[in-house]
Amino acid sequence: MFWLSFLVTSLAVLVLGWWCVRADAPVGRCLRRLKRLLWLSIALKTGIGVAMYAMGGRASSPLAAAALITGAAWVVGEFWVIFGWVYLIEKAQRSLATSRSDYLRMRLRLVWEALAPLLAVGLGALAFGDLQRGAYHTGGLWGLLSTGAIALGAGLIAIGLIRRPIPLPVHSVPVETHLLAEAQRMGRELGVTVREILVLDGMRLRNANAFALSGGRIAITDYLLANLTEPETLAVLAHEVAHLAQRRRLIGIWTRLLSVGLGTAIVYALLWERLPLWGVLVWVSALGVGMTLPILRLRQRHEHEADAFAVSQFGVEPLESALRKIAAIHQRPTHTQSDAVHPALATRLQRLRHHARG
Ligand SMILES: [Zn+2]
Repeated sequence: MFWLSFLVTSLAVLVLGWWCVRADAPVGRCLRRLKRLLWLSIALKTGIGVAMYAMGGRASSPLAAAALITGAAWVVGEFWVIFGWVYLIEKAQRSLATSRSDYLRMRLRLVWEALAPLLAVGLGALAFGDLQRGAYHTGGLWGLLSTGAIALGAGLIAIGLIRRPIPLPVHSVPVETHLLAEAQRMGRELGVTVREILVLDGMRLRNANAFALSGGRIAITDYLLANLTEPETLAVLAHEVAHLAQRRRLIGIWTRLLSVGLGTAIVYALLWERLPLWGVLVWVSALGVGMTLPILRLRQRHEHEADAFAVSQFGVEPLESALRKIAAIHQRPTHTQSDAVHPALATRLQRLRHHARG
């Protein structure tokens, strides 16, 4: 029953994916639709899991962990097939110079980034449930090992997420020294040390992007560097330096939210016997929303502040033209939001001019 419903949702996702890719849409629009499809696929599978749980099919925690991991692998499998189709049209439309396997690895990494937090939370909750019920006691050595393995898995995924791995292969050619010096000067202004600017290989995948990483590192793709003038590059670097400075605040909020979550988990554990089965579902959903929303709001504000910092350093023009170029490269429309954190280009540009006046 469980697997049959999985199979049906997968077929639906593949059909929708086929439709997205076949619709003769430009690659940019196709990718945005696929992003929504990814969340739909995850939501459908979560829904099946929740329904099974609510119907009283309480599986043992190793079995539930196996179901979680299989569900995630299943989603990766669906998108492995779909991105195989996208590769062909993206190769034709944007003249990609990369092999199919490299392309799939890059695209599936994004799928993993969406799945990993859910997996970490799910496995963590299972391990916590085991501990709290004392299942490792009754289960003997096997119970102890399985709880340990589930907790370890959750921990490793969480560490991988916090460390934020470099998203693309690193180029051996470093960024020009005066760019690094400028970034370091801006870092000093914001009280953060800029240690390194990595140049990533975005050329093969036509990826024009910059990232603030852990450990005082900023990364920028060679493809973006090749498309921007020097003032534009500096404006983009200013934006990323501001993100570096914001990381500490973000990690602080994460820590506070996690402790609150853990606190409610302990209270919940004490009341466990007296609460109905669906109580845990309500608690997990409330916890999920309660932890995601503040982070999302903060990250939206951070984007705003990072743009304001770049404008304060170099004025509106270089950042504005850099953002226009990036949107054009990735075929992003002016008035639609590309993700939950970044506003649509038109809104963003309007705010830039506002910063310049203020
Ligand atoms: Zn940003």
